[in-house]
Amino acid sequence: MATSVRQVRQTVVDGVTVEVRRSTRRRRTVSAYRQEGRLVVLVPDRLTRAEEGEWVRTMLARVTASEQRQRRSDTELLARAGHLSRTYLAGRAQPSSVRWVANQESRWGSCTPAEGSIRISDKVRGMPAWVLDYVLLHELAHLIEPGHGPDFWGLLSGFPRLERARGYLQGVAASAGLTLSDE
Ligand SMILES: [Zn+2]
Repeated sequence: MATSVRQVRQTVVDGVTVEVRRSTRRRRTVSAYRQEGRLVVLVPDRLTRAEEGEWVRTMLARVTASEQRQRRSDTELLARAGHLSRTYLAGRAQPSSVRWVANQESRWGSCTPAEGSIRISDKVRGMPAWVLDYVLLHELAHLIEPGHGPDFWGLLSGFPRLERARGYLQGVAASAGLTLSDE
């Protein structure tokens, strides 16, 4: 890929450092991502400087909007976790952060009890709210009880749709050929 990049240019737009990479391989598509605080924009080499400038502004707005959406949805997730902890765990689980993650292939959710952080797979996003609640509650319970022994399942016993949610996830995993487990 590096060989197709003909020119790399840095500029500053609205206080953001932007690196524009012109690629001879790209024909039409423009893409952008954030890297170490700066915005990297990949554009086709044939664009004029004016077109490039327009695209940089468009992509900066798009990336910023998507980052704001992500932050907002992580905030909602943390609020939901707080509600579940109060409802089913007498508020004993107090996560420091709860966020959506995209790069989680083998688990619906995971947590780091020492940090109190919880990560929920993007795959759960489109599922019914009670399934997301179960995945959240499962990780919240792990902040109290790391294993999957009777004490762990005892913590979850107040959740009304426990078995339905577990069955739902097993069904999704099976039909998608995934080896995802909720344990
Ligand atoms: Zn577990």
